[in-house]
Amino acid sequence: MERIGIYGGTFNPPHMGHIRAAEYAVSALGLSRLLVIPSCISPHKQLPKGSASGQQRLEMLKLAFANSPGIEVSDLELRRGDVSYTWQTVESLHQQHPQAELLLFMGTDMFLSFDTWKNPERILHQASLAVFYRGEPREQAAILEKKRFFEEQGAKIYLVENPVTEVSSTDLRRMLIFRCAGPFLHPAVAEYIQANGLYGTLENYQNLPVAELETVVTGLLKENRVRHVLGCSHTAVELARLYGADPVDARRAGLLHDITKALDGPFQLTLCREYGITLDDFSRQNPKTLHALTGSLVAHRIFGENPAVVSAIESHTTGKANMNTLEKIIYVADYMEPNRDFEGVAQLRKLAFTDLDKALEHGLRMTLQMLESQGRQISENSREALRFLEQQRK
Ligand code: FE
Ligand code: FE
Repeated sequence: MERIGIYGGTFNPPHMGHIRAAEYAVSALGLSRLLVIPSCISPHKQLPKGSASGQQRLEMLKLAFANSPGIEVSDLELRRGDVSYTWQTVESLHQQHPQAELLLFMGTDMFLSFDTWKNPERILHQASLAVFYRGEPREQAAILEKKRFFEEQGAKIYLVENPVTEVSSTDLRRMLIFRCAGPFLHPAVAEYIQANGLYGTLENYQNLPVAELETVVTGLLKENRVRHVLGCSHTAVELARLYGADPVDARRAGLLHDITKALDGPFQLTLCREYGITLDDFSRQNPKTLHALTGSLVAHRIFGENPAVVSAIESHTTGKANMNTLEKIIYVADYMEPNRDFEGVAQLRKLAFTDLDKALEHGLRMTLQMLESQGRQISENSREALRFLEQQRK
């Protein structure tokens, strides 16, 4: 019996993760062919502003899969228009290929919420499900339970362990703005995006007026980070006025300090590689602190910020010896801005507005204590920052 795979999604944009997963599926499931079907309007997610059109996503997919045997890109859902419901797609493919076994691809999240889709029983009646999972034990129990539940109703479910590392499309779009998405894209797709100026790739972000900078930055952050960044930025301005630093630099550094924070570890490392930065062992093993370095690189290269702003961003997580006033301000503002809530934050706030050095020292000590209690590695920069402040006091 012919086995046809159905791989739907928004593909905004299609990336190497999609290509590898699709190629793997063809061989792992012994498919005669795989249909890659971009949705017209997804019932699951709204496409962000500035996204590629349906036609553009289709064209990019054709480029991405041009050299993948057995994989075809289909405009079925785009031609149908409107919201793309999977049951309709499955039904029309079943009519076209009544003898074939249809295998509908999905990730774990989609599988676990499959009951909430439109007409799931109609889908299961005409297609089997191929669930790509990551093999995390906690997830596995839930997946197996769901699988049993559907199978009791006569459905056929295949579990496929996915060896391909997942690429988040949101992060990928950030990487496009940071001009570092190359390694995650098929070269022809990368060229297409560039040639059509998709995803903000042709926009100039250098030296934006501060209000515009704020709009761009908040659009690139995760929702929960926006408040923190605005809080940090406003606090930095207050501290700059108090301690005689440039309030505009303070505002810009506050806005940009966590610009790469949302990116996963692998993206952080790619960013460094693409910008030609060699990392020390500490940074490689602690990609969470790496966002200070990558943020400063992006601030410099993409946003054209001045050296004072760039270096304040670079030192905002670990600190360093002999910090200048703006660097201290960003470190401290990040720690105690109004949205921060932890034991001792009130004391730190009070210190920040009375003695900047003491506030910095206090922040450094709190971080070191926390890292030590968690048995985590401590940056040499933080130790040096503290040593410097102690010596200065003597
Ligand atoms: Fe940060
Ligand atoms: Fe921060």
